[in-house]
Amino acid sequence: MSQRSKQSTAEPKKVKPRKLPTPRPEPVDALVYPRFSGITTFMRLPHIPRPEELDIALIGIPFDGGTTYRSGPRFGPRSVREQSAIIRPWNPVLNVNPFSQWRIADYGDLSINPLSLDETYARITSQLNEVADAGARAICVGGDHSILLPILRAVHRKHGPVALVQFDAHNDTWAGYFGSPNSHGTPVRRAVEEGLLLQGSVLQVGLRGQVYSKDDFEFGSQHKFNVITAEQFHRQGLAPVEKVLRRFRGQPLYFTLDIDAVDPAFAPGTGTPQVGGFSSFQILELVRALKGHSLVGADLVEVSPSYDNGNITSLLAANLLYEMLCVF
Ligand code: MN
Ligand code: MN
Repeated sequence: MSQRSKQSTAEPKKVKPRKLPTPRPEPVDALVYPRFSGITTFMRLPHIPRPEELDIALIGIPFDGGTTYRSGPRFGPRSVREQSAIIRPWNPVLNVNPFSQWRIADYGDLSINPLSLDETYARITSQLNEVADAGARAICVGGDHSILLPILRAVHRKHGPVALVQFDAHNDTWAGYFGSPNSHGTPVRRAVEEGLLLQGSVLQVGLRGQVYSKDDFEFGSQHKFNVITAEQFHRQGLAPVEKVLRRFRGQPLYFTLDIDAVDPAFAPGTGTPQVGGFSSFQILELVRALKGHSLVGADLVEVSPSYDNGNITSLLAANLLYEMLCVF
């Protein structure tokens, strides 16, 4: 057992009873201040850096020191905030207004060190521990996928091992990269090794493209990952995904969405694009499939605005972020 899983058996910190202020934070009224005006926050929500006042904190993590090809997702949170100005509150597909269900606000960005992956990891985990101790769930916007590991460490400290649902073109289970144990290609493997995930409760959807060798899939099969490739999804649709998800019901579930799960025709603004991915509509449907699960947190990573065209990637990401709120 890893050191980290041992730590989790310690008594959880006592959480003070929460007195949530009224009224609930709401997006700025677009009929008073039109959508193109005002200060840029996620979905035009107020900026509230006090987690004790929130049920769900939308948090930016502008770190891309774990990229292996094209860097740039450090600008993801800023760009998603800008494009999220168009989001309206009511979801007619899921029949929900998340802002009337929960206290949701833009928490701001976490403090990171752009020159050190290790120090950034420590900072992410300790800041997210504070958010969790205050009783709020976090939805983080990256940043590259390397931030998943320190996020999962904080999630594990609060909830113990969790199920993981990952939408991604890549499995992110490399053993290492240029001698470093951590990059955006390694967090899922490290999370398994550290005992952060429930055995048998990992679902990866959208894997595709060339890999270095057949062995790239070995780690996942050794650890009983449920894998639904992009090819499988295109041929069989949602049903196999829903079938696996049914088995995860009732388990604490963490959801990570790498925007490169989406086809570069719909989401070109990302660092390691792979053709043959999901359309905008397909990824919306996939996120909605998480409705009814016990979500303990989520993230959306790898949006790299400098490779985007007409902001379509950030616009899609903003909509996916909203759908995440709706399934929470
Ligand atoms: Mn990834
Ligand atoms: Mn990926």
